[in-house]
Amino acid sequence: MGHSAYLVSLDKQAREDLEKRLHSRQSGKCFICDRAIDLILQKGDLDVDHIDPLVEQGLDEENNFALTHASCNRSKGASDLRIARRMAEFEILQSAAQDKGERGANLGHLLTKHGGGKAKLIIQREAGKVKYSMSAIGDNKIYEVPSYMDKLSGMEYFFAVLPLAYLHHDDRINPRSIGSNIRGLIEEFMKKRPQLHVSLAWWAPDAEGAGEVKVFDGQHKAAAQILLGVEALPVRVFLEPDTNVLLQANTNAGGKLRQVAFDPAVMRHLGSSIFLERVQQYQQMKGLEKNDYSFSESDLVKFFKGEHREMQRYIVDSARAAVTKHKDNRLMDFVEWSGKTANQPLSYSAVERTFFSEFLYMKALTTPLDDGMERGDNPRYLEREQLVRLMTLFSDIFFAGKWDPDVGGRQLESRLQKGEMIKEEHLRAWRVAREEILGSIVEWIRLVIENYFAYTGKMVDKKRILHVKLPEELWDRLSAFLINLSKLPCWVDKNLSNTVFGAKQNFDFWRTIFKTGKSTSGVQVLAQPLDLNTLIVEYKN
Ligand SMILES: [Zn+2]
Repeated sequence: MGHSAYLVSLDKQAREDLEKRLHSRQSGKCFICDRAIDLILQKGDLDVDHIDPLVEQGLDEENNFALTHASCNRSKGASDLRIARRMAEFEILQSAAQDKGERGANLGHLLTKHGGGKAKLIIQREAGKVKYSMSAIGDNKIYEVPSYMDKLSGMEYFFAVLPLAYLHHDDRINPRSIGSNIRGLIEEFMKKRPQLHVSLAWWAPDAEGAGEVKVFDGQHKAAAQILLGVEALPVRVFLEPDTNVLLQANTNAGGKLRQVAFDPAVMRHLGSSIFLERVQQYQQMKGLEKNDYSFSESDLVKFFKGEHREMQRYIVDSARAAVTKHKDNRLMDFVEWSGKTANQPLSYSAVERTFFSEFLYMKALTTPLDDGMERGDNPRYLEREQLVRLMTLFSDIFFAGKWDPDVGGRQLESRLQKGEMIKEEHLRAWRVAREEILGSIVEWIRLVIENYFAYTGKMVDKKRILHVKLPEELWDRLSAFLINLSKLPCWVDKNLSNTVFGAKQNFDFWRTIFKTGKSTSGVQVLAQPLDLNTLIVEYKN
């Protein structure tokens, strides 16, 4: 809160009167969260603060004051009430979306809230120009603007400023949700900096010649401006494009080209939708029924030979996405999807470099897609279900009910060194989730599995280890192994905080510790090397 000479000068009665006036001016609602304020019940827990901050030449007078819940004003680190207010609106949309099981709010949610996504546009295409009108919202002017040809792709497009009612969100090409980094954009726009790039959209007519203008790129800048009350946005609209080409361009932009900051989980999701589309294309072009899956992943790679490298990636993306989106995968509750807020112990990329790289088969299979479906031993099905079970087992032993998101992981080791009391199970969760440690643990999990098959005399393809059904007896071993592992004192040993848990290490560092009990620098981390035979025996207590 900025220091206010005016507020300090008020006596108790004058302050109460001011709160009452602001309360009625704001229709009884908090300036930030827009929920009701009760002057009696919430007495003493209310703040009066400047709307335009004093540091930005805001005035120290009543017109520039707003009434808020004290917690709303303080918890957000809100240096600026105007930003806190937009972020509060965004966060309400965000949690509403998450309550419905979605990953978060996207441009579609914001449009709906602000009267967008309602109308279709009728466009008349003529040589070098397009005509349209927006009569659905009472704007009867006939707009006539030039259209252009994108030389290399042959796609036609035009530029327009369209009211929100005519804008729709395309969650197929852009399945991303909006991240909390939107705050930065809101701040930029509030400082009167202009939008540098226009959002991208596409349009295609239905039988009546009308079509939705679907925004597929630039949703963050669109969303930030909508939150700031903007009612129309500039867009570049592609006319009747091949949306698969746009989808692919957008995927590549995030991957190879890095034009936009895409998180890897979204890349996988896109790859997986392209895979499903290729399957359908293949069926159509081969004249197969929709439910005919008698061809293999490898047939697809051969068929789309112009993009065989991408096809291979889409196959793996699809396998990965099926595991991450699986409703029973409880490990995903502890994964930070993007950014580095450390509210969760695991990063998505750590999951990729451990569980996925160890257990997902990365090549195209030569067996039919539906091979063994009735018997329940389809290899991709087994791989998915068993990997989900394994990840959930891990989560139940190390994370569920143990990791405390309110304590979080930011600077955890140094907080520990400074004497902060951290619950042991929370510390353990944080430590085992480090990529280099999890990587070594996952190698040992594999060892438990391979050792079991060796011991039962069964030959398995090590690269496709989860394509075989793991017997319950082996699951018991895996569970015993992880439970015993969780009891190692090193996970909760504070003295190791500034040695082995200090700097980030590589996989080999922990491989060596598991194998010898000591770190390469000679620190004794375990009483003795890990011993498989002891660890797979159920811990009795
Ligand atoms: Zn509030």
